[in-house]
Amino acid sequence: MIEVEKVITKNWGRPGSNTLDGYRSTGGYRALEKALAQAPAQVTEEVKRSNLRGRGGAGFPTGMKWGFVPKDNPKPVYLAVNADESEPGTFKDRYILENDPHLLLEGIAITCYALNCHQAYIYSRGEFKGPSATLDRAIAEAYAAGIFGKQLMGKPFALDVYQVRGAGAYICGEETALLESLEGKKGWPRLKPPFPAVVGLFGAPTVVNNVETLANVPAILDRGAAWYAGLGTEKSGGTRLICLSGSVNRPGVYECSMKTTLKELIFEPTLGGGMPPGRQVKAVIPGGSSAPVLSADELDVAMEFEALKAKNTMAGSGGVIVMDDATCLVRSLWRVARFYAEESCGQCTPCREGTPWQTRILRKIEEGRGEAGDLELLLHVASTIAPFPPIGLGNTICALGDAAALPVHSFVSKFKLEFQSHIAQRKCPFGDAPWGHFGGFA
Ligand code: SF4
Repeated sequence: MIEVEKVITKNWGRPGSNTLDGYRSTGGYRALEKALAQAPAQVTEEVKRSNLRGRGGAGFPTGMKWGFVPKDNPKPVYLAVNADESEPGTFKDRYILENDPHLLLEGIAITCYALNCHQAYIYSRGEFKGPSATLDRAIAEAYAAGIFGKQLMGKPFALDVYQVRGAGAYICGEETALLESLEGKKGWPRLKPPFPAVVGLFGAPTVVNNVETLANVPAILDRGAAWYAGLGTEKSGGTRLICLSGSVNRPGVYECSMKTTLKELIFEPTLGGGMPPGRQVKAVIPGGSSAPVLSADELDVAMEFEALKAKNTMAGSGGVIVMDDATCLVRSLWRVARFYAEESCGQCTPCREGTPWQTRILRKIEEGRGEAGDLELLLHVASTIAPFPPIGLGNTICALGDAAALPVHSFVSKFKLEFQSHIAQRKCPFGDAPWGHFGGFA
């Protein structure tokens, strides 16, 4: 296994790590001072050279995203921080908010300076009661210490940072739905283009970045882009937070090298620690429930954007869900499908109509009422939402359509026999075994 220097989790577990004093005692806000000694364009250039990629799901290069903000637009520039972590199997951003909120706030301050942005909004998931309270305290500390406010660490650069809590809708994690919600409207995704970098919050240029993404920015400014890029692979700098759940002995959040493979993640004693006694891996979802599933013979793959893309899946939000040989994959897929059907905003026809249709067919198969032609119909419905492969070219306004269709394509194509045996036996071969459940999708 490749050991890697910790970037995000280095202070987790230290007493006072979520306070300003605790953060400053380990060099906190030193990177902001370094950034403020440079021109904003230099800061953006440093982030570009670091190969930092977004950790919210799409993996888009962060510095490039910042570079899309027009320089000659007379409107203000906004930063929207996506803390609406809701993808099933993903639970890392809440740990950053709870354990090291100033790491995020320092990343926000540096980013705002680079973008000439004077207002940042952190959109937190509605259910994040504890993490949101911790973040509110940290924001208040930063104001009291003169880090935010009319001056930025004593420099004449006003910066206000607000936290806004959502109401628990998964779709508000989609960047344009998030902006709609911030504006006080229903969280409906917008048609793109125009992209938020040009027309975003209140019609002004807006950068939307995920919590983990921004939490990487201080280390880049403090230790340098070359050091950060060197931690990762040729196209993906730094480390990754991985949320490991399902059938492993040591589920949790791990900061890993981009070169760590799924097999190492599951079986290394210091990571997943292997499977429960007598169990074997059957399937692994590598990047949150919307990522196409991998079978047990596909685990020698690095948990990195390009490597997973080459396997027709994605690194996504870092949520790795392990399913063992006693897990019913029809039931698992039914639960995933039901989640996306319930969270569809209903704005576009393939997603609004297709997601409940997928759910009904899967339920029918799982309950022993499946018949010839059901699998073909299921794949047809999924294809009307999004064909597979490629990934990300669905027929819908936002990626929730892809998220709902891609698991169906991949589960059925890789585990067809299991679906067929449900139909042939007219029952679920796994019965009601407790191991038939995974994740929290019961
Ligand atoms: Fe709404 Fe689904 Fe269309 Fe996204 S894909 S805009 S969630 S209906």
